[in-house]
Amino acid sequence: MLQNESNSSNHIARIESAKNSVRKYFGIISIIISLVIASIFFTFQFNVSKALKVHLYKQSKVFFSEIVIVRKWIAQHGGVYVPLDKTTGENPYLAEINGVKSKIFCDDREFVLKNPSLVTRELSESPFRTDQIRYKMTSLDPINPDNAPDKFERSALEQFEEGVSEVSAFEKREDVDYFRYMAPLVTDKTCMTCHAQQGYNIGDIRGGISVTLQADDLILEIKTAQIFMVIAGIGVIALIVASIWYISRFFIRDLHNAQEALSRMASTDFLTGLANRMTGVQTLTKELGRTFRKNTPLCIALIDLDYFKKVNDMYGHNVGDEILKKFSTILLNNIRNYDTACRYGGEEFLLIMPQTSLEEAILISNRVLKQLKLTPILTSKGDIQTSMSAGVVMAKEGDNVDVLVDRADSVLYRAKGDGRSRIYGDI
Ligand code: GH3
Ligand code: MG
Ligand code: MG
Repeated sequence: MLQNESNSSNHIARIESAKNSVRKYFGIISIIISLVIASIFFTFQFNVSKALKVHLYKQSKVFFSEIVIVRKWIAQHGGVYVPLDKTTGENPYLAEINGVKSKIFCDDREFVLKNPSLVTRELSESPFRTDQIRYKMTSLDPINPDNAPDKFERSALEQFEEGVSEVSAFEKREDVDYFRYMAPLVTDKTCMTCHAQQGYNIGDIRGGISVTLQADDLILEIKTAQIFMVIAGIGVIALIVASIWYISRFFIRDLHNAQEALSRMASTDFLTGLANRMTGVQTLTKELGRTFRKNTPLCIALIDLDYFKKVNDMYGHNVGDEILKKFSTILLNNIRNYDTACRYGGEEFLLIMPQTSLEEAILISNRVLKQLKLTPILTSKGDIQTSMSAGVVMAKEGDNVDVLVDRADSVLYRAKGDGRSRIYGDI
């Protein structure tokens, strides 16, 4: 019986460890799923930011090439003449070059020569232009001091001299986000007309054109989308973790129920429903400790049914079982609710009676015996008269469970020897 009880304890411990495993593995699954989802959202966020940069970069590059094409076209034709008015001033930096006049008269109208730099500058400052896209031609050594580079442009120009082919960056000015792009202007044959005097050769970097795009709207849109994605990501993770937690609760609940059932089985005698021997020993150990701590009396009674072998032999084992069950009920009905009755062995029972004197314990045991004597037990094979003997002892300082039960057993042995159906007590 003790082997079974220790097996049950092992099973209970195993179920407890299974419950912990369920918690652990479901926790690990939650963490893995959360990390996967978080990394998907993070990658998506990263790609969106990258796509924004690529978009602005390509837009800037297209603008840059358009400007270069226009400049080349003007240079190819040696400049263009435009009517002189208040919007198109004279070029103070453009001397008469290679016999080309900087100013001409035609049909009584005055025309001024515009070279690529001037056209670039006038277009960049055009009143038709919005703040969305701006560009500027600049160099570390500008002919026109108004074309002097700003901080980004100066750094880019210095990098071009070290061989960098283009530079781009985000920039915040007065709370507005901009995307800046700059690429160098490489001297070719058409440029030499104006720039040879500055000592440039073909292939030299004369300066560069910077393109500035206002990126506020796009950045705001992307930031809003990112906030929604973060909220959606957290929502999805929370939903999955909550679902996993909810499902794991079912597993844990089932395991818990199994554990409770097993624990009941492990502590209860399957035939009579009384506490089993293991529970009896545990209870007695606890009560002995309390008795010595609080200095209160504790008695036990070891009860053994008389001539039970004969009962089995005469009526059969099943009837013997019926008697054991009925006797357990009688036992429970005659003890107080703070007493414990346990099935100690085959037809042996142990009564644990805390805060009880020897006289009271003998009285309680006699109450059970009296009922057995007065009322035969009703079985499937009719009424059967039974009796019992008991050894009642009181706990003494220094007693442990074995010593106390052994003493009760000796007293019981005397009761049996003196003819059975009697209760003996000993201090
Ligand atoms: P005594 O008065 O000396 O106690 O005689 P006894 O016959 O009761 O004692 P003994 O120990 O010789 O026999 C006990 C019997 O109890 C033997 C066994 O068949 C019976 N028994 C033990 N457990 C059970 C059980 O679970 N069911 C039934 N039906 N009988 C049991
Ligand atoms: Mg016996
Ligand atoms: Mg017996």
